[in-house]
Amino acid sequence: MNTNRSKKCWSGALSIVVMASMMLGAGLAQAQQHNEHGAHQHGKASLTFVLDGNEAELVLTTAAANIVGFEHKASTDAEKQQQQQQLEMLKSGSWFALAEAANCSISGHNFREEQGEANHADLYVDFQILCQAPLKLSDISFSLFSQSPALESIDVQYLVNGEAAVAELSAKNAVLKLIR
Ligand SMILES: [Zn+2]
Repeated sequence: MNTNRSKKCWSGALSIVVMASMMLGAGLAQAQQHNEHGAHQHGKASLTFVLDGNEAELVLTTAAANIVGFEHKASTDAEKQQQQQQLEMLKSGSWFALAEAANCSISGHNFREEQGEANHADLYVDFQILCQAPLKLSDISFSLFSQSPALESIDVQYLVNGEAAVAELSAKNAVLKLIR
């Protein structure tokens, strides 16, 4: 992995997250800050989605265990294979689908893995997205719950053309309906 490039791109994504948090209000900003300081919970992930004009950014932060199934250094061939498959799935963006009518496509992505204390690790992935018909972006469906069975819920903060809202997604409620 190209660490320098990843770090540089990530700081751009982070500034959008921070901006979104500020616009979402003090309570959420506090929650986000808490998150950044390493609130690492297995089963839970957080996601930020920002749509501005026809450009969007989707950022997922999750304990590695939610996606990979474990957080220690992969040692056996089976572990290495599982880790590689799951990380490729995460980076491909195959785990979310934007409403088809909006005609969106992923224009870029960044990925970062951060090893925490006592064998815990976090994953960060962000996608830059372009939509030809952004007004038709009514929802985003997440298949990540079936692709990563250890994931139980995703806390979502989103900002669509200046309108902010929050949502909680789970396997039973895996479609984010954007309030427009
Ligand atoms: Zn952990």
